[in-house]
Amino acid sequence: MSTALAQDIPTGLWIGNDERPAASGATIDVVDPATGKVLTSVADAGIADATAALDAAVAVQAEWAATSPRERSVILRRAWELIAERADDFAALMTAEMGKTLAESRGEVAYGAEFFRWFSEEAVRVYGRTATPPAGNGRILVVKQPVGPVLAVTPWNFPLAMGTRKIGPALAAGCTVIVKPAEDTPLTMLLLAKVLADAGLPDGVLSVLPTLNSPEVVAALMADPRLRKVSFTGSTQVGKILIEQSAGQVLRTSMELGGNAPFIVFDDADIDAAVTGAFAAKMRNGGEACTAANRILVHNPVREEFTAALTEKVAAIKVGPGDADGVDLGPLINAKQRDRVAALVDEAVGLGARVRTGGKALPGDGFFYEPTVLDDVPAGARILGEEIFGPVAVITGFDTEDEAVALANSTDYGLASYFYSRGLDRALRVSTALEAGMVGVNRGVISDPAAPFGGIKQSGLGSEGGSEGIEEYLNTKYIALTG
Ligand code: NAD
Repeated sequence: MSTALAQDIPTGLWIGNDERPAASGATIDVVDPATGKVLTSVADAGIADATAALDAAVAVQAEWAATSPRERSVILRRAWELIAERADDFAALMTAEMGKTLAESRGEVAYGAEFFRWFSEEAVRVYGRTATPPAGNGRILVVKQPVGPVLAVTPWNFPLAMGTRKIGPALAAGCTVIVKPAEDTPLTMLLLAKVLADAGLPDGVLSVLPTLNSPEVVAALMADPRLRKVSFTGSTQVGKILIEQSAGQVLRTSMELGGNAPFIVFDDADIDAAVTGAFAAKMRNGGEACTAANRILVHNPVREEFTAALTEKVAAIKVGPGDADGVDLGPLINAKQRDRVAALVDEAVGLGARVRTGGKALPGDGFFYEPTVLDDVPAGARILGEEIFGPVAVITGFDTEDEAVALANSTDYGLASYFYSRGLDRALRVSTALEAGMVGVNRGVISDPAAPFGGIKQSGLGSEGGSEGIEEYLNTKYIALTG
């Protein structure tokens, strides 16, 4: 890592708009995945620190809920401006702790900040309704109120955006928030907390608790009756644990979980456009995205043409440290993740998959894996059933539309899906039939702060972004009036 990092990045726990060491004095090493070397260390929260953060949130919850929507809107808008002013600081930090290229990091800064601008605009547009009961006796008044203190648990793959997507609507709605960032990437969220304080967010409204003891810290917060909601982005496996835990206090939950996105290319598609789309859907964020095209299903008559063109593009990717000139792909997040990707590829190849390019981990201290294309991947290979979370494109063929849809839906996940076709009838038929919360038609990138992002089946509960996103942080209250 050669890019200089900002000097004012907090490394303590962020509670009450201030930094403090963990009560235990423990720290977490933050590692640069391009070198395997320690960048710095941050405080490691325990249960006593989590209780202090919740005390701070509870102490100001009523006051924060009572601020005017315009006041909350102005703070979010100011934070959006400050993130833009500090875009280079955020991008360098994300590249340092997560590994993605600076270009990818800049893209995430713009995308992540946009949730604050979007929800600054939504804060002043929360509506209830009135109705006259059928019997004509009185009035039905429906109002929306903030849920209360929220716990947001976020993953490492988008260290900024997965936080702003929760913090933006929660603050807009009038909720206080405790963020538990991923242990691999706590620095981006700590800098964001500082920026929100600079934007005028009152003390106690936002806390950030990096910890190596997520199961204990999160369980303790969720068992506390003062917490009212948990919003989680991460693996389905951990999401299921949190859904079970949420039963204890009957917490509101939002769950953005894993995916196994199908990317279908029909023989009536614009093949060049499909290659460009597949490349984006697969390689964005180095493949470490829940929306990544996990299974590329190609109509057999165009399979070789498509596969050869995609292979050429993937083979041209330049791998290296994310802050180096001309690099297109950085390292994976850690050694465990790199070894997982290698094991999935090795198993598929052992079962008969053909390596068109790549196929190996790269030697050295960083956690790099070659950009890879696998063709003829046999049914039953683990790589078709599990999230790859790496730069590996997996191609299988199909003969009919019904077969493609059946293959696409043959998964417990239901987050993103994509297909390319020029036929309008087919576009409507297939987008209706796909069992997924999101469908990209003739496009490989679908994330948009103005659209509801979310999964069905084992990919989650609820939506983030769009006008739907703020509803996750609002309770509905019915007031019965006479007269
Ligand atoms: P993860 O589930 O391992 O961790 C996510 C977060 O949960 C981290 O902060 C982690 O520290 C915490 N955690 C882990 N175990 C916990 C426990 N027992 N109790 C409480 N918290 C716990 O996921 P990850 O490896 O950080 O991220 C990758 C996963 O996230 C992938 O499955 C990906 O698909 C998913 N993801 C989903 C979306 C979406 O919007 N659907 C977006 C990004 C990532």
